[in-house]
Amino acid sequence: MSNRTINVDDRLYGYLLDVSLREPGVLARLRAETLKLPQAGMQISPEQGQFMALLVKLTGARSILEIGTFTGYSALAMALVLPAGGRLVACDVSDEWTALARRYWREAGVEGRIELRLAPALETMRALLGEGAGGSFDLVFIDADKGNYGAYYEVALELLRPGGLLLADNVLWDGRVADPANDEESTRAIRAFNAALHDDARIDLSLVPIGDGLTLARKR
Ligand code: CA
Repeated sequence: MSNRTINVDDRLYGYLLDVSLREPGVLARLRAETLKLPQAGMQISPEQGQFMALLVKLTGARSILEIGTFTGYSALAMALVLPAGGRLVACDVSDEWTALARRYWREAGVEGRIELRLAPALETMRALLGEGAGGSFDLVFIDADKGNYGAYYEVALELLRPGGLLLADNVLWDGRVADPANDEESTRAIRAFNAALHDDARIDLSLVPIGDGLTLARKR
């Protein structure tokens, strides 16, 4: 037993998946196809997808905004558990990656719940504000270019309703955030993002070491 978060080695990780993962076939097939891409590391882990789907159910979220869709795994995991009438707005700039996403959303029968907007996410987020969607989203998932995390966060807070949940991915950045020798731009951006949230009285906060680190912030 330990008073700190357990170190999950490969054997324990395999056990965790064995006793808890309930990945629908369509998600498993999308994950397998994405693994063939050179950018496969950008895909979230399956247990994280399941965790996020559970969060959607726990919060009763009906309106979700995703910043950074890639090949659509996280969007599909969340869309699959949206209630009737629920919608997910997916932001990405890649037609190629999201074409793969759309194929699996169609196969899963959730394409009608997902509205894909191909544009820089900040443009889409500001457009949503202009459309009167401020304060309307139940959940926002940020998983795009790290240099813009701070900017995404600020607009996301405007788009979230009070009590809404913000999720931010890769906040542990493969451990690089805690490596003083690492001075990469992306690492510095995530450090700044994490520090800003720590001090931000507008949110309740928890950093969950699942996947590459997932921050949960509830808008007060
Ligand atoms: Ca990610």
